[in-house]
Amino acid sequence: ADIRTAFEAALTYHKDFPKEGITFVDFFPVFRDAALVKKIVAEHATAIAMRGAVTGVTVTHIAGLDSRGFMLGPMIAAEMNLPFVPVRKAGKLPGKTIMAEYKLEYGSAKIEVQEDAVPKGATFAVVDDLLATGGTMTAAVGLLMKAGAKVDATYVAIELAGLGAASKVGAPVFAVSSVTDE
Ligand code: IMP
Repeated sequence: ADIRTAFEAALTYHKDFPKEGITFVDFFPVFRDAALVKKIVAEHATAIAMRGAVTGVTVTHIAGLDSRGFMLGPMIAAEMNLPFVPVRKAGKLPGKTIMAEYKLEYGSAKIEVQEDAVPKGATFAVVDDLLATGGTMTAAVGLLMKAGAKVDATYVAIELAGLGAASKVGAPVFAVSSVTDE
């Protein structure tokens, strides 16, 4: 069967979670099916490699976003024999870090990356589970650039369709599945 179809069939939708008016798309059920997980990882790795073949740009590092970007991200990196770099919510990473602040609907949030995880000349592909407004991904791209890296493109398992987020990120966004949460 088509990977995309199997992936979308494994997603569950939760009305009014974590609060009223929000429908939460849960991708944890995907991880109950190891064969499907391997296919999704391969799908991402192939997309990153194919883009490289077309653009001539070599991705040297995979970044993953706190916290569900830490699930597929390290697997994609290992599959491609590349280093994995976590982008975390502020205050969680030891050692010297670089920080970026970004606006949320209410208030703001801070994210960090370890300075020694971003060597000179690094070119990143950034991975997360889901793109909604794009605020988190935009901030992560900005953070890695602030750290001196290049960001070639971003990859998400799920894009919430119709929010127009992908055009705001500042790097191309590639999604395995585009879904509506209604
Ligand atoms: P954005 O910043 O609005 O694009 O939200 C994306 C971030 O919030 C990602 O890191 C997601 O993990 C998380 N997120 C937002 N909505 C959902 C959802 O419905 N399911 C799972 N994660 C979500």
